[in-house]
Amino acid sequence: MTAIVLCGLLALQMILISGCTAKRTAVETMLQELNSSLQSVQQQSVDASEASIQASQAEAASIQASQAEAASIQASQAEAASIQASQAEAASIQASQAEAASIQASQAEAASIQASQAEAASIQASQEQAAQGVTSQPPEGHQGPWVGGRTVYLTFDDGPSYLTPQVLDILDRYQIKATFFVTYTDKPEIVPYYSEIVRRGHTIGIHTASHEYEQIYSSMDAFVADFDKIYNYVRDLTGVSCQLYRFPGGSTTGLNLGIREQVKAWLQQRGIIYHDWNVVNGDGATVTADEAYHNVVDNIVQRTHPIVLMHDGVKKETTVEALPRIIETLQSWGFTFAPLDPSVEPIHHGINW
Ligand SMILES: [Zn+2]
Repeated sequence: MTAIVLCGLLALQMILISGCTAKRTAVETMLQELNSSLQSVQQQSVDASEASIQASQAEAASIQASQAEAASIQASQAEAASIQASQAEAASIQASQAEAASIQASQAEAASIQASQAEAASIQASQEQAAQGVTSQPPEGHQGPWVGGRTVYLTFDDGPSYLTPQVLDILDRYQIKATFFVTYTDKPEIVPYYSEIVRRGHTIGIHTASHEYEQIYSSMDAFVADFDKIYNYVRDLTGVSCQLYRFPGGSTTGLNLGIREQVKAWLQQRGIIYHDWNVVNGDGATVTADEAYHNVVDNIVQRTHPIVLMHDGVKKETTVEALPRIIETLQSWGFTFAPLDPSVEPIHHGINW
């Protein structure tokens, strides 16, 4: 366009130089118009260029904005990726913690199993010890060497009485046998108990008919008369000829000093074995059931061959009350119970007790 206008101007100037005056004015006018057009065209061109530049600049700005936005999105995506990575790491930590908790639980379970196994082993050891008659449990009031596995001989003096059936029932309940050193009574409600003692498998022995120390120890004749009265009475009632005897007050009571050795010789001649004791429940005096219990279990541990003195006579209720607990405790310590018989080594006061 500009080239065409310039060619036009050049042609007109050639005409002006070579043309006539009349036409010259017209040409000059045309030339002015052409110049004006040229300026206009130039101006339009400039305007268009500027507009184009502005458009380009706007477009560039737009591109820059887009790029910035894209960068922003990329940054957001990177941030999101970072968050995802953090979440994954957190999940991994949680998994590790869960695994650690699982390991701890397993370890706790293993410890529990070990504890159970230890307990089972302990129980087995206790059972084996019990089977061998040895207890690992230290007896209450333990004062001497503990060997366990001993036989204990429970003996009941001064019966039968109204308490005898209760004693017999307790012994039956624990399936153990004992020894009864009896006295004389003809009370109709008591008399059947002599036979009941024998019927239930216990040993019946002679104590005394009257239990009057001054009478029975006053002379050998008096002693023999008392002895024979109860001996024959028991034999008649039960069919048993007693082989065991217990001195009233014990063999070494000062009350029998005058005839003691004569009595011992007479008993030996009759084939009668006398038995003292080396453990008492203390019911010769008034005791509570708790005292009766402790008197036995606290002292029996000192005896390798324990023979226990109790009474099933009048007012000995605490003896009956303490009896089950005594039996249970001694059984738990590995004791077994047996009745006396002529094969059992006797305890003799002043000699071997
Ligand atoms: Zn007595």
